[in-house]
Amino acid sequence: MRIGQGFDAHALQEGGTLILGGVEIVHTHSLIAHSDGDVLLHALCDALLGAASLGDIGRHFPDSDAAFGGIDSRELLRKVMAQLDTRGLTVSSADLTLVAQEPKLAPHVDNMRDNIAQDLQVDAARVNVKATTTEHLGFTGRKEGIAAFAVVLLDE
Ligand code: MG
Repeated sequence: MRIGQGFDAHALQEGGTLILGGVEIVHTHSLIAHSDGDVLLHALCDALLGAASLGDIGRHFPDSDAAFGGIDSRELLRKVMAQLDTRGLTVSSADLTLVAQEPKLAPHVDNMRDNIAQDLQVDAARVNVKATTTEHLGFTGRKEGIAAFAVVLLDE
C-alpha cells in the first residue's frame, strides 16, 4: 500500500464557469486558474502523484506551458493515472473534501464521484466526495476562494 495526500485552493471571480469534480455547477462565480480551475481534481492529482512518489501537479503540468491553458482537469487526472498504470499502481480508495461557503455542493457530489471513479478506473464505491463550509471563517468563508483536500491509498 502507498498513501498520498493533496491540497489545492483557487480564488473566485465573478462570472465564468464553475467546474468541480468535472461537474459544471451553476453559480455566480468561477475559479481563477490557468486550467479549468477544478480545484478538487488538482488536489486529487497531487495525492496520486504523492502516493506514487512522482512529485506534484505543477511539475508535470506547469502553468507556464500554453498546452495546459484552459485544459479539462479530467484530462490531467487521466494523464496522472496513465503514469501510475505504467508503474503497476492502482487506486484502492480516494477520499476527497471540498471547502466552500457557496454554492451548495451536496447535490453534485454523487456526479463528481462518478466522474472521478471513471477516470481512476475503479468502482464508485472506492471513491468518496464530501463538502463542507468553514462557517464564514477564513478565505473560503469570505467566499474569496474554494479549497480541496484529497487522500488516496494505492495498491502496489
Ligand atoms: Mg490548482
